[in-house]
Amino acid sequence: MKWIYDLSFDQLKEEMNAVNIKKFVADQIFSWIYAKNIQDTTQWTNISKINRQILANLYDTTLNTILKINEDQKGTKKILVELQDKHKIEAVLIKEQPHYTFCISTQVGCPLKCKFCATGRMGFKRNLSPGEIVSQVLLLKKQLQDYKGKINIVLMGMGEPLLNYDNLKIALGIITSDKGIAIAPRHICLSTAGILKEIMRLETDFPKIKLSFSLNAPDASLREQLMPISRKEPLEKILEYFRTTKEKRKFRVTFEYVLIKGVNDSLVHAKKVAALVRGIPCKFNLIPYNECDTIRFKTPDKQAVDAFSDYLYSKGYTVIVRWSKGKEIKSACGQLAGEG
Ligand code: SAH
Repeated sequence: MKWIYDLSFDQLKEEMNAVNIKKFVADQIFSWIYAKNIQDTTQWTNISKINRQILANLYDTTLNTILKINEDQKGTKKILVELQDKHKIEAVLIKEQPHYTFCISTQVGCPLKCKFCATGRMGFKRNLSPGEIVSQVLLLKKQLQDYKGKINIVLMGMGEPLLNYDNLKIALGIITSDKGIAIAPRHICLSTAGILKEIMRLETDFPKIKLSFSLNAPDASLREQLMPISRKEPLEKILEYFRTTKEKRKFRVTFEYVLIKGVNDSLVHAKKVAALVRGIPCKFNLIPYNECDTIRFKTPDKQAVDAFSDYLYSKGYTVIVRWSKGKEIKSACGQLAGEG
């Protein structure tokens, strides 16, 4: 039996054709599973009983199981999801006044091995299928019951989204389509360690999806130490790409920068960072390091964070400092390790 969430709308339409069911039934199915978030085929009342029976024999419509939900006092919830092959992933619901943000995973583990990140420590297991990406959104939506307001999606959970671009593209098609979950691309942000070829594909396929680049260091050499992928994907090339394509981009690139005590958080580093990104319309997301049990890096002092951010601000940059939400339930950046 096929898992229905792995199919794009066009694939489902073709499959309907193959079993002699009218194509518009694909619209109805999408509306039930995605817009209405109702997976029980017996409730799909605008589809004939016979067709519902055929569909129930063809497709598995059950969502993955939530093994555990951790919630902090501010309403951030981390869900631990069990996949069909028993691997586990995490997705996070963040309450931001007045809307919600969903932080979604794209891989089980991560192959990049960034020195500061807990997900990197667990190694890489496999890519998520399109359905495993999309269904995280459905599971998180169920946590909100009748909420109809704005939802942002950040592709910042476990994994490097651009190393799973083919599956992610199908998932994003469903998430953004009016026939599917209908979340506008401008409300979606993808965070990448920087895979240039795939950044280009993403920007062609989804020009309105916002891009965050995990800069994390003031120069190529420190970046290569912290993020080994940077040896294959040189920083200069990525920055050059952002510079030369700035006219086309409808938004400013966000540079994420994990501030690690004594490693990349001094004023000298801040000055280098400002010089490094000159000429690129951008903003900064500074993330004071979230400590993890297995990693020796430390959170910087508030003073150092303030001095770093004040410097960038004084150079005219928009700076957001993200003292992470959900630290006590280990759902903050870099703390997702699939263990609940
Ligand atoms: N692979 C993607 C998305 C993953 S994480 C990427 O590299 O962008 C999202 C953000 O969290 C990244 O900017 C990453 O650098 C940051 N991050 C990872 N570990 C962290 C930690 N322990 N504390 C704070 N931020 C961290």
